[in-house]
Amino acid sequence: MGKVYLTGAGPGDIELLTIKALLVIKDADVIIYDRLANPDILEHSKDGCEFVYVGKEDGRHIMPQDDINEVIYQNALKYEKVVRLKGGDPFVFGRGGEEAQYLYERNIKFDVIPGITSAISAPAYAGIPVTHRGIAVSFRVVTGHESPNKKESQIPWENFKTNDTIIFLMGLHNLAKISKKLQEVGKPADYPCAVISKGTTNEQSVVVGTLGDIVAKAKDAQTPALIIVGEVVKLREQLKWFES
Ligand code: SAH
Repeated sequence: MGKVYLTGAGPGDIELLTIKALLVIKDADVIIYDRLANPDILEHSKDGCEFVYVGKEDGRHIMPQDDINEVIYQNALKYEKVVRLKGGDPFVFGRGGEEAQYLYERNIKFDVIPGITSAISAPAYAGIPVTHRGIAVSFRVVTGHESPNKKESQIPWENFKTNDTIIFLMGLHNLAKISKKLQEVGKPADYPCAVISKGTTNEQSVVVGTLGDIVAKAKDAQTPALIIVGEVVKLREQLKWFES
C-alpha cells in the first residue's frame, strides 16, 4: 500500500513550486493532476512515472469529485508513491480536504504539501499587496462560484462593508452579480476592483476598474481569473513590476 502526497503545484509560474513538492514529484510512481497544475512540472518526474489527468477546470469538474477520490485511492493500492498535484494550494478551494478524508477513511497514509495559492500570488505579480499598513488590515478569500443571489447563502455579504481586501476565486462568470451585490451592501460604485487572469504566467493580464465599471472592462478576461476588491488595488500603479 502506498502513500499519497496531496501536493500544491503553485499558481502557474513553475518556479513557484516548493522544493518539497519538487522532491516528491521527482520520485513519484504516479502523478494525478488537474488542469490548473502547470503541466511543465510533470517533466521533472522520473522515467516510467505514470500520469493520470483528472481534468478539473475553474471548479467545474469534468470528472466528478467522487471519481477523483476513488482514482487516488486505487492508485494508492497499486503504487508506492502517489502524487496528487493540484493548482495553487490543495486546501484552498481545491477539495484537498475531501480527498484527504477519503484516504483517511480507507487507512491510506497521506502527507499534505502546501502550495502557493493564486489568491495571494496572482495579486503579488499584479503589484497588489493583499494587506497594506493603513489601507487593509485583513483579507478574505471567498468563493465566487456561488451566485450572490442564492437564498440562504453561506457568504456573509453584510460583513463586506469593511475596507478589508476581498479576493474571489472561481467568480469570473459571476462578476456582474458580485459587483452588484457589493454595491447593495454599501460599497460605492467607484470602489477599486481588479480582475487578474492567468496570474504569474507569461499570459498574465490585469484589468483595473471599479465596482461600477469592472464588468464592462473585464468582458474579455480569460480564465483562470480572480477578482480582487479593495483600496489596495490602487497600489498597483506604483507596484506593478511583472508586466513591465
Ligand atoms: N487551489 C487553488 C484554487 C482552486 S479554485 C489555489 O490555491 O490557487 C480555482 C480558481 O483559482 C480559479 O477559478 C481562479 O479564480 C483561481 N486561480 C487559479 N489559478 C489562477 C491564476 N493563475 N490566476 C488567477 N486566478 C487563478
